[in-house]
Amino acid sequence: MNLHEYQGKQILSGYGVAIQRGEVASSPEEALNVAKKLGEETGTEWFVVKAQIHAGGRGKGIVTETGSNGVVLAKGIHEVEEKVNGIVGGHLVTAQTSTKGKLVNKVLIAEDVYYPGDEEPEEFYMSVLLNRETGRNIIMYSPEGGMNIEEVAEKTPELIFKEEIDPKVGIQPFQCRKVAFNLGLSGQAMKQMTKFVRALYNAYEGCDASMFEINPVLKTSDARIIAVDSKVSLDGNALFRHPDFAELRDTTEEDPIDVEAGEAGLNYVNLDGNVGCMVNGAGLAMATMDIIKLSGGNPANFLDVGGTADAERVEVAFKIILRDPNVEAILVNIFGGIVRCDRVANGVVQAYKNIGDIPVPIIVRLQGTNAKEAKQIIDDSGLNVHSAITLQEAADRVKEVLA
Ligand code: GDP
Ligand code: MN
Repeated sequence: MNLHEYQGKQILSGYGVAIQRGEVASSPEEALNVAKKLGEETGTEWFVVKAQIHAGGRGKGIVTETGSNGVVLAKGIHEVEEKVNGIVGGHLVTAQTSTKGKLVNKVLIAEDVYYPGDEEPEEFYMSVLLNRETGRNIIMYSPEGGMNIEEVAEKTPELIFKEEIDPKVGIQPFQCRKVAFNLGLSGQAMKQMTKFVRALYNAYEGCDASMFEINPVLKTSDARIIAVDSKVSLDGNALFRHPDFAELRDTTEEDPIDVEAGEAGLNYVNLDGNVGCMVNGAGLAMATMDIIKLSGGNPANFLDVGGTADAERVEVAFKIILRDPNVEAILVNIFGGIVRCDRVANGVVQAYKNIGDIPVPIIVRLQGTNAKEAKQIIDDSGLNVHSAITLQEAADRVKEVLA
């Protein structure tokens, strides 16, 4: 589950990672009030206004409607209001969004922590993630942080450092110092960075994150180390351990089909092909996708309906598959072990009737308990549904209907 910058920063701050002061707003008026309050508390008259969307590259991104960037500086509270006006409600296009961009519902208003007039602020890159090859978390970091990190990775990969954490002993003080040293820091800044790295790693473990990316981490003119940006992904499989994180989910940032599938308890992944699949069990789903390919089709999706393939679930699954305009046929491949095939067949027929006119042919292969009865139910249905017994037969049928 991905978080917005302001949500990620709140979590980081809870673990002692230094962030700049700021608050989120949904309208220019709200932003004005936030800036007024921040100004009174910090004495600053410089603010930064940041579009909150689930994509990076906002600094260089452009709001289609107004031409504004997604991250802009503002001097004084009235300029904040004005700048927010150019961002909220617009569509922000960045290197990481589609060409349509993402609708901006919220902006973060924060105090500007950069040194005024500083042409080259010290911006570092730091991320925490799992190295799947070694099964260990790594801290990846670079002294060349900021908006051109992709270029750094490509042209000067020697400036990207990695520190791997042994899960048996956790992060060690010498590792935090090494990071600070490789970033070229000394004195107070070195101390601050050491603290920062430890707090960041603790946060990563504590909230069961799957990825942290803090770019930039800023060294201020008075040698403080601050997370200026935050990209936080939480491990969806660990969310049950953090019930308070549920409210951080922003479904407007997700594909509506994925949201609907998730709510129905279906495991759904959209793909580019033309044959929709409805299968129970991930392994069978993979095999089904293979056989579709072998028979000359291309899977339009991965869909695991799970153990209970009753009429209701089958209906939701059909609807989700049919939302994809590329689907030319649907292959239902269900093994009736826990659930009897005749029940699934009735479910398919019922779902078909409930939906009404399904514009594409459906091939149903039911194998397992009461498979024969199931085939009969499909054959007697009088609908554009074809039965098959073996997987090969099902594949041949797919070939036939696509021809
Ligand atoms: P991203 O482009 O989506 O990664 O958004 P960031 O939060 O990283 O902001 C983009 C860039 O804006 C950063 O690399 C900074 O150079 C700059 N920036 C962000 N916050 C501030 C700020 O408070 N003051 C100033 N002067 N620049 C900032
Ligand atoms: Mn950034």
